[in-house]
Amino acid sequence: METCSNCERDIGNLETAHVHKGHIVCTQCNELLHTAPAPKVSSTADTVPPTRNQLGREKPVQTIEKTGKQYKAIMLVGGLVAIVGIVFSLSGDAAGIPVTLMGLGLFLVAKIAAWWSHG
Ligand SMILES: [Zn+2]
Repeated sequence: METCSNCERDIGNLETAHVHKGHIVCTQCNELLHTAPAPKVSSTADTVPPTRNQLGREKPVQTIEKTGKQYKAIMLVGGLVAIVGIVFSLSGDAAGIPVTLMGLGLFLVAKIAAWWSHG
């Protein structure tokens, strides 16, 4: 008897075992894995705004006060790097954790530097 690599369910003799990216999966998981990316594409088009355009249109640097401008820009970058790292680790990428830590480190260093220069 074979076991589904996705839900770890035993695949019965009367069921058909499917192969998804080199893993043996049951019929349900096979359908799930095949149909999953489809709604994702349509939902991202509807709900998620185009971040590139947003960043190009309004630069947050302009509204930030003069003194902490550089540090806040670094904090922003650090925060974005950390978010990217979190997204990577959620998707199972091994690079996610070091990237997250790097982003958080950058964020903290900039925050400390901003505090230091401010008073
Ligand atoms: Zn399964």
